[in-house]
Amino acid sequence: MGLRLRHVTKRFGDFVAVDDVTIDIPEQEMFGFLGANGAGKTTTFRMILGLLDPTEGEITWNNQPITYESSHLIGYLPEERGLYPKLKVKEQLIYLGRLRGMDKETIVKEMRRWLERFKVPEYENKKVEELSKGNQQKIQFIAAVIHRPKLLILDEPFSGLDPVNVELLKKAVIDLKNEGTTIVFSSHRMEHVEELCEHLCIMHRGKPIVHGSLKEIKRSFGKKNIIIHAD
Ligand code: ATP
Repeated sequence: MGLRLRHVTKRFGDFVAVDDVTIDIPEQEMFGFLGANGAGKTTTFRMILGLLDPTEGEITWNNQPITYESSHLIGYLPEERGLYPKLKVKEQLIYLGRLRGMDKETIVKEMRRWLERFKVPEYENKKVEELSKGNQQKIQFIAAVIHRPKLLILDEPFSGLDPVNVELLKKAVIDLKNEGTTIVFSSHRMEHVEELCEHLCIMHRGKPIVHGSLKEIKRSFGKKNIIIHAD
């Protein structure tokens, strides 16, 4: 049960962006994909979300293919942040929450809960473009979780954030996991995943070069701190 990838491959013409990935992510686990730019993390996420079809292989959530309907159970923080700069935070979240089938009252309630939690209740009526990049990222995170997804996919959630916001977001992610959300995220940096994940997969040029528990991975690399550098 949970999220299962079986021999998942994606080719763009002759180029193999994701090469034979087989991974099981049990429900309520936090799983990290680690890899440099171009390793194939985003392409893997897009296939999980159904935005791209695998060239080969199969992806299931609780033994079922992910369909348009079940995609409502997924929350997604894309790497390219995509908020409307001219909308107020509240308008933005109402729009995105409605796309998830939520009613306005619930959206506003959830939004206020999250803004309080991020210590920025006054942002409700600010335009997105008035916020710093880090604060826009918090709003994008709220958009990804406002419908309380069962499966949350976060593409580089900590990139571009200052240390205070990294800690705020980490805490939010840990709480969501403890509430039962299955969380999959990507990062360039081991330090971001080692604190949060039980299991992870290191990708390099589309290939999962090693995956397993943090302990197993550290043993196979034979050192404590692993930083994945771009080629
Ligand atoms: P980053 O951290 O830079 O996002 P990534 O690990 O997420 O890296 P991907 O974005 O999945 O990597 O890209 C993997 C490879 O596939 C890259 O070489 C990229 O150029 C290529 N690629 C991705 N999408 C396409 C596409 N639509 N057509 C052709 N090549 C693509």
